[in-house]
Amino acid sequence: MKNERTGCNTDLIYERDAYRTNFTTVVLAVQERENGIVALELQESCFFPEGGGQSADTGRIESCPVVDVQKSDGRVWHLVNCEGITPAPVWKAGMEVNCEVDFAVRFLRMQNHLAEHLFCGIANARFGYDNVGFHLSDVVTFDLDGPLTAEQIASIEEKCNEVVWENVPVLVHFPTQEEAASFDFRSKLELEEGVRLVEIKGYDLCACCAPALRSTGEIGCIKVLDFMPHRGGTRITLIAGKDAYRDYCMLDEEIRELMKLFSAGREHVADFATEYANKSVAMRGEISELKKEITELYIRDLKASILAKTDSAGRRPKYVAAVYPNADEVQSRGIINECVKEYDGIICIFRGNETEGYRYVCGRASEKEEVSLRTLAKEMKEALGGSGGGSEVMIQGSAPAKKERITAFFEKKDEQYGAE
Ligand SMILES: [Zn+2]
Repeated sequence: MKNERTGCNTDLIYERDAYRTNFTTVVLAVQERENGIVALELQESCFFPEGGGQSADTGRIESCPVVDVQKSDGRVWHLVNCEGITPAPVWKAGMEVNCEVDFAVRFLRMQNHLAEHLFCGIANARFGYDNVGFHLSDVVTFDLDGPLTAEQIASIEEKCNEVVWENVPVLVHFPTQEEAASFDFRSKLELEEGVRLVEIKGYDLCACCAPALRSTGEIGCIKVLDFMPHRGGTRITLIAGKDAYRDYCMLDEEIRELMKLFSAGREHVADFATEYANKSVAMRGEISELKKEITELYIRDLKASILAKTDSAGRRPKYVAAVYPNADEVQSRGIINECVKEYDGIICIFRGNETEGYRYVCGRASEKEEVSLRTLAKEMKEALGGSGGGSEVMIQGSAPAKKERITAFFEKKDEQYGAE
């Protein structure tokens, strides 16, 4: 028989009593769904079905986990997954079943949900704003239809926590439609069938379908995590209760790490971090200047090598290779780009060290048929290991060999090609 107010076949116990988690009831209907999921309609239920932005309760019916609870066309379906459960339960209409709601999850959601009611109630009383969107997952996110500054949000948050400490009773009302019309409550537009109102005595009255805590003290704590302008209003993300406590623990751990790192007191970590960040920016600037200066020295060194290998007739070497252990890739390319302006041979710059091996960049001004850069990459791979490749004007790769072998490889190249 349908309940007149909710329009459901199932009597929704959680609407009146959010703390009852164990119940025995009768199965009204059974539906086989996909992937071994069975949907059960029950005579009574403590399970909250997904709705109003809040996920469904979890728990068990007999020994099967309840994976979802959905309400459609006045029927509340409890989806159970009995995969791997032995003996496999045989579901029949009329049978009696033992059920249990996962209360830890339920309680956390009630903490977060009521925190949202309280925040919106106070924002409504102070600024007249309405809640126009709500979502509860790991955090609560909701939209108010007006702008709020950081100071206003901080002030509402503070008031919310004072109401938590005041431990105000929370009442649930089931007014008739006529009674409801005379009440002044939030979310009036969402009214469908029967109205259920959740009241935070003295602070808020709001239409709501979800299980509610007994008093504000059980919320524990409310903390706004984030806010941003959203469609002319404000989107707010907050956490409450155990979630807020966990967040505090996480932050506490983080701040202890930072205190150790900066040898700073708890209240001064940010000052030290700011100072460190500023220093680091200045140092990056200095390093970049020093690198430029060092690159100039590398260029001078390489030009001297080219000159040393130029014979008395002015013929220049086809190859010149250098190992600059601390050069980076940008510097290596910079050296090559500068030197090929007045040298048409191949330049190879190696960087790295004996333990981790070397990386190279080789380049030249333009393609030359007689000597292929890609062939050189292959030869280096055979002689020095690693890998590499590129175009006929620039190749790069790794050479996990000792410096001695790299030098020997290029000495051999000198014998092979000599000077032009
Ligand atoms: Zn609500």
